[in-house]
Amino acid sequence: QAKAEGRNRYHFFTKTLSQRLRQQRSIAARLRESLKKDEFELLFQPQIDVKTGKFTSCEALLRWRPLDEESAVPPNIFIPIAERSELIADIGRWVLEKTCQQSKKWKQKGIGVRIDINVSGKELEKSSFFERLTACRSHYGLSPEDIGLELTENVLIKSDNAILENLRAQRDLGVEISIDDFGTGYSSLSYLKQFPVSHLKIDRSFLKGAPENAYDSALMEAIVNVGHKLDLKIVVEGVETQSQSDYCKSLNVEFVQGFLYSRPISAEAIEALLEKQ
Ligand code: C2E
Ligand code: MG
Ligand code: MG
Ligand code: MG
Repeated sequence: QAKAEGRNRYHFFTKTLSQRLRQQRSIAARLRESLKKDEFELLFQPQIDVKTGKFTSCEALLRWRPLDEESAVPPNIFIPIAERSELIADIGRWVLEKTCQQSKKWKQKGIGVRIDINVSGKELEKSSFFERLTACRSHYGLSPEDIGLELTENVLIKSDNAILENLRAQRDLGVEISIDDFGTGYSSLSYLKQFPVSHLKIDRSFLKGAPENAYDSALMEAIVNVGHKLDLKIVVEGVETQSQSDYCKSLNVEFVQGFLYSRPISAEAIEALLEKQ
């Protein structure tokens, strides 16, 4: 009885595993198709300067809208699948190109808003990433200040010297570099000073509990203090309520980002927001 059950369970497990793999392969194939058909879209979410209440930068967030699907597939589903194949390089190239195009359009309209892109570790490992970044910037007549990079701490920790040197060179040129989702990875504060970064984005999971949860707020305060001591600008992600916003202000962080101010929106909607501010 027990043995049969065990075998069944094993069978059940391998079946779902192979089903999962099959599903992933089919998603990967559809992603590849979608790249050809241009079924991706970039949305932008403002990052608000706490001092002025205005925004001068935004984060580019990728959306996949396969035409046969009702709604967009969230990046948390398809980015990890793309990362397991070469697809992430193609997607990253698309994101960089679109971002530079958008940045140029805004420049031509006299709009000075920096766009930060999320860069996957798999993309960075390719030596061509930095060449592409430089080439794309110059092709669209952009300055280093126009396009920022967001990397998670896990990606930074895994980066070899060559990557860190490339990042430092970009940083020296004036590229803003953020550590994304800070606090969810290895989050060793002692690593911070080794990384050529300008901004630290505290993951929204900390804000959820703070300020009521003493542990979460102690962590928030510690991260802000260490970050500031290291001359980093602090961004808090996932600000959804006024009381969270007030709390961030009380911590003296530089920037806030979240649904309270704006969801990720189209480039046109960003322009409309700018007119209002
Ligand atoms: P992330 O870089 O940490 O982006 C922040 C995520 O939080 C976004 O989810 C954003 O829509 C969401 N968010 C913003 N404000 C709030 C809020 O107030 N409350 C809540 N609950 N969520 C908020 P999204 O767009 O689904 O992206 C998820 C992740 O996918 C990103 O996390 C990033 O790691 C990855 N991603 C997105 N676009 C790209 C891309 O172009 N390239 C790469 N490599 N990764 C991307
Ligand atoms: Mg990000
Ligand atoms: Mg984040
Ligand atoms: Mg994230």
